[in-house]
Amino acid sequence: MSETRFDTVVRGGTVLDHASGLNKVTDLAIKDGKIAEIGDDLAGSAAQVVDATGAMVMPGLVEGHTHIFEKVSKVGAPQDEAHLRRGVVAAADAGTAGASTFPAFRTLVVEPTVMRIVNFLNVSVLGLIDFRYGELINPDTFNVEDALKTAADNPDVVRGFKIRLSEDVLGDRIVPLLEKAIDLGEQAGLPVMVHIGETALTLPEILERLRPGDIIAHCYTGKENGILDENGAVLREVYKARERGVMYDSAHGKSNMSFKVAKPAIAEGFLPDILSSDTSGRNWRGPVFDLVTSMSKFLALGVPMSEILPRVTTVPAKYLGLDSEGYGSLTVGGPAHVTVLKEVDAVVLPDAAGNTIEAPRLEPTAVFVNGVSHELTAWRGNPEGQ
Ligand SMILES: [Zn+2]
Repeated sequence: MSETRFDTVVRGGTVLDHASGLNKVTDLAIKDGKIAEIGDDLAGSAAQVVDATGAMVMPGLVEGHTHIFEKVSKVGAPQDEAHLRRGVVAAADAGTAGASTFPAFRTLVVEPTVMRIVNFLNVSVLGLIDFRYGELINPDTFNVEDALKTAADNPDVVRGFKIRLSEDVLGDRIVPLLEKAIDLGEQAGLPVMVHIGETALTLPEILERLRPGDIIAHCYTGKENGILDENGAVLREVYKARERGVMYDSAHGKSNMSFKVAKPAIAEGFLPDILSSDTSGRNWRGPVFDLVTSMSKFLALGVPMSEILPRVTTVPAKYLGLDSEGYGSLTVGGPAHVTVLKEVDAVVLPDAAGNTIEAPRLEPTAVFVNGVSHELTAWRGNPEGQ
């Protein structure tokens, strides 16, 4: 019997790593929770072999925008079922918790899961608990002192702030509250994520107030005041803001991804910096489902995997400060956070506006966190439910 050098070898998949440029059919070996070796013919010395023939072996997926605060928030999706068991190893919650609800978020969401969870703290102390009642309708809930203290006390989790600029969230106080949010970000030294899509302010009027590192969520929204001009071209101001370091997050969500916007924008070369799903309690059974389904939609929109990969690994990991913890890349000696994805079939997928597209469907076949394999859940878009 040959010597067992590795705990697990993921055999024969196309190993993809944007950070190193690796793109090769080979084996990936795991030992003691770390990536021990990447190279050919390693399976002979493994205690366990996972066959990845025909699949892609990539860094564990990093979800840049989701909502995970089940049972406390009406928009909270189940953390493990809708994320880990669909191939995600690290995720940023986008404003579901505010300063007053953060202690519960930490206890109920961050601590019980093996995923690495960080967040954009809602500028309202309430957070996004019940979408029927805007969290900033009472502007006093934007308590700067509380937000600063929560961020300062929880630097391992709070990586930015979130403001939703919808009129049903903050009434007509769009500009003063946006400016207050940017000022809060400035004081804390953290970025601000700005949700667009139901706002009287035009996108250039929002962009001119953002700093480098601030991020626009829902860049392909089909609602008014989006990224396109009246001729269907991406606004010049959108590119100008990007040149200054403003970021764009696709954040599909229940109502903020339109193929009619994404198609022409992508055709002229406007890709999101971060490809995220905006999974929530309202959409994880469709039309969003999960991050992998959003990746499938971008494949269908003509974006190659080589462009999708960094937007679900290296870029969000770096932006969220998780790259230094070993997320977003496959590094020998680093933690073995690995997702294996396979193209399984072609399906018709909807956007948030009822448009559809035929997409090659990606499906996770294995996920490892610190070298430990976790059970997966079948895709919820199957009518059978499997
Ligand atoms: Zn969201």
